[in-house]
Amino acid sequence: MIPFSMLERYEGNEALFQTVMMSIVSSYAGEPLHLHAEGLRGTGKTTIMRAARGILPTITRIKGCIYNCDPLDPHCPKHRDLSASEIEAIGTEDIQMPFLEISHSAKVGTVAGSIDLARLTDISKPEAHLLPGLIPQAHRGIIFIDEINRLADTSPEITDILLDVMGNKPGHLQIEEAGLPAVDIQVRVSVWAASNPDEDPGPLEEIRRQLSDRFDLVCYMGRPDSVDIVANILEENSYSYRVRNVHKKEKRPLKSNEQGYKRDVIKWAENYQCLYMPDFLRSYIARLYLKHNLESIRAIEAIQQAALLHAVLQGREKVLISDVNQVIPMALKHRVDGDTLVRLINEAESKGSRDSILSFKNRQSDRSRDQDEDYFQHNARPLKDMHRGELVNTEKALTL
Ligand SMILES: [Zn+2]
Repeated sequence: MIPFSMLERYEGNEALFQTVMMSIVSSYAGEPLHLHAEGLRGTGKTTIMRAARGILPTITRIKGCIYNCDPLDPHCPKHRDLSASEIEAIGTEDIQMPFLEISHSAKVGTVAGSIDLARLTDISKPEAHLLPGLIPQAHRGIIFIDEINRLADTSPEITDILLDVMGNKPGHLQIEEAGLPAVDIQVRVSVWAASNPDEDPGPLEEIRRQLSDRFDLVCYMGRPDSVDIVANILEENSYSYRVRNVHKKEKRPLKSNEQGYKRDVIKWAENYQCLYMPDFLRSYIARLYLKHNLESIRAIEAIQQAALLHAVLQGREKVLISDVNQVIPMALKHRVDGDTLVRLINEAESKGSRDSILSFKNRQSDRSRDQDEDYFQHNARPLKDMHRGELVNTEKALTL
């Protein structure tokens, strides 16, 4: 597999690289960000997502805890009631941030948890215990599901589990097994999924709308659009290239690139934890919700979270309106119809450019801001597309 840092980047896949990074940073900081990459077969969505495993930093857990208990915030049935000194006595260990994959043949028991057969059949001391499944074992990390639309179509039980896990941040998971008390545990897992909406059984939002809405961001993957890029991809995928790189991989440079990403993730996660959304931007997002009758509050929560992360990845200590506008299409593509999305993006763009032109000159009162809100409602076009006359009018209206 080609390392993350060596994958070919072009305009059509740049957004996925960025959102993958945003989700890793957010997960590391303790807040999941669920991501769905949609696109045609062969656009490399799953390659990028799987390669991201190589840039995941380490996390510290209570020694030997299969649920990845944070020593400062233990949550598993075994450790959640222990005192700080008892945990200290057990000790801690560093492991790589988990990245686990749910396959199509997975059973509910594999995903959520099941009875631990090894311990049940232990001759010296048979015991009935629950063995956590893939999701609880991915706590503080990432769960990846390819062809999520097919899974939603064929495995309603696993879909229900995902709905619970992605319902809140942190999410919940019930592990049940006949004859044993059910265990309810918290899980902080970012769910990453990929699908091709043009293939059977169709787009996820049409199969299971509720599950589609649980994804904070949807990233649409474009095809590579230049001969050079396609030729490079072809070369990287050729057998002889891969054989040559087996030897290269053992040398330093690739490794240090992946290390660089790990360091970035840790640094960005720290910055994310202290970054806040300024009031005027929060109101801006809230207005989108009301004005466009957005169905779910999750949509604007996703916009807020993603805008903060976007600013962090740009190395800024302040969120700008452009960060918000950048993430709007990804947070809303799967949640509103096409016309509303186009109207909303045009409006956001005109708002963005207007703000950058006029922001400090004309800090308006609430009243005049409302008036100009009305003005834009009837003319939802980018500022650059407007006639000069209209622009002059706009400025007059603003300075009333
Ligand atoms: Zn534990």
